[in-house]
Order: sequence, then C-alpha cells, then structure tokens
Amino acid sequence: MKIVIGLIFIGSLLYGFDYHLKPVQVDKNVTCFFGKSEPVTKENGGEIANSCYVATIGGYVVIDSGPTYSFARQAYTAMQKLSPLDVQYVINTHKHDDHWLGNGFYKSIGAKIIGPVTLKNSVGKDEITRMQRVVSAETFAKTNIVYPDIDIEKTKNIKVGHTSFEIRQLSKKAHTAGDLIIYIPHKIIFTGDLVFNGRLLSLRDGDINGWLEALDKIEALDWKVLVSGHGRLTDRSALDMTRNYLTDLKKSVKKALDEDVELGEVTQKVKLEKYKDIPMYKLLNNLNILKAYQLLEFEEE
Ligand SMILES: [Zn+2]
Repeated sequence: MKIVIGLIFIGSLLYGFDYHLKPVQVDKNVTCFFGKSEPVTKENGGEIANSCYVATIGGYVVIDSGPTYSFARQAYTAMQKLSPLDVQYVINTHKHDDHWLGNGFYKSIGAKIIGPVTLKNSVGKDEITRMQRVVSAETFAKTNIVYPDIDIEKTKNIKVGHTSFEIRQLSKKAHTAGDLIIYIPHKIIFTGDLVFNGRLLSLRDGDINGWLEALDKIEALDWKVLVSGHGRLTDRSALDMTRNYLTDLKKSVKKALDEDVELGEVTQKVKLEKYKDIPMYKLLNNLNILKAYQLLEFEEE
C-alpha cells in the first residue's frame, strides 16, 4: 500500500494535475475545451471556463488560455495530436483569471498574447489570484501573471492564414470593463463571459444595462456558431439564458426599488426562483440581486 501511494505521489510530482481534457469540435475549424459548470475548486483545478482553438492554414488562434500553465500545456498537447500547428495568437476575452492564467505557457512557445488593456490595469503583477488561493500548488506550478503583448483599447483586426478575426472591445461596461468579442464574419462569434449557459452568470464586476446592450450587439451580428465563456450551447439558443436572467433580474429589482425595499431586505423579496435549479444559483443569485440593486438604485436617482 505504502509503495502504491508513494508511486502515485512521485507520479503526480512528475506529471502534475491531469485535467483529462477532451477536445470537442464545434465547427469545421474550431475545437473547444468546455469548462465545468462549477466554482473553482481544488478538484477541478480551476477548469471552469471554455478555451478554444481556431485552426487556420497559418496556425492556431486560441481564445482564452485557461486557468493554469498546466491546463494550457495539456490543451496544446491534445490539439497537436489532432492537427500539429503552431499557435500564432492567444486572445484573452476579459480580465477574470479563469480565462488567461495559461498565457505563460503560450508565451513560452512563441505565441503573441492579445487582451483588453483593463487586464493589465486591474491585476497586479504580484497579485495572489483567486486561482492560486484555491487550486493546489502542484496544479498551479509554473503559472505566472503574464500580461498581453498587445493591449486592445478599441478594436483590432488580425488575419491568420486566410481567416480574418475582428477583435472588438465594447464601449460600455458589460460583464467587465473592456470585454472583448472575437468575430469571424458570417461564421462564428466568441463572446467570452457576455454569454453564460448551463450555469448562473456573475454580475460582480459588470453592469446590467451595458450587458443587455452587449447582447443586442452580439445578436445583430451575422454568425452561425456562438462560443460562450461558460457553457456548451453554440446555436442561437446559446444566448437565451443570459438574456432571460438579466431581464428578469432587472425587472424584479426595479420593482423592489419602486416599492422602497431596502438593500438589506432585497434578497428576501426577490428570489428569481425559476432559475433555482441552474448550477451556481445558490452561490451567485443573491450576490447578483445585491449588485443589481446597487446599479439600478443609482439609475433611479
Ligand atoms: Zn468572467
């Protein structure tokens, strides 16, 4: 028994945390690793957000690099088995750490990192991130804060092989300040955390009105496949849950404000129970209600 435990221990030191990643093809040249609909835990190694590879004849473009160096390395290794291409660019959709802490791995293999300027401006170089606090030291090994090489403040178009990528920054705060969407015209859109499905969204760093406007903008573009920051749906219905929840949240909290409900009692009055079976409701619903109250109270004045 001791020998077996010893061997497992040595094995984990040698090979680290195994994410057991399974690539899923979502379109002709697009493959994703879908994160779990859970909060960050030691057990999931922070694998809660989506990370996707777009194959072009000029190499790969990766949308979001994942939660750790090790995740990024394992995703890259899985993709090399499918199609051995270099990674030219990695695009970080926004500043939350489950989406970009894999940057260091991609930088080490020569990829250029693109991200919103708000990432650099809001995350300190030596900050202990939520990811580092929760996952094990072994899972987090070699993970560092690696900022984008190219900061986006408005828009940027890149062409890799024959594929054009329009990287657009939203002018208003939505899920965060500086959210990027990546649009391959008439084909596919990567929305980052402007779209959640399969789990409740988090309004923590966002703005409810800006977010609803962002959804209108996304819907007005011509795409066949939508890849969200969290969730596996990629058809037109991928947007529904985010829009319905934000609309109901706004309506219910506005009604509470009209009835002079105080901040301290709003979560007793507003429940949004129709979403109660959606993963992460218990963790996030009350926080979203409180955040919406603060945002909309300001608007009422
Ligand atoms: Zn996020």
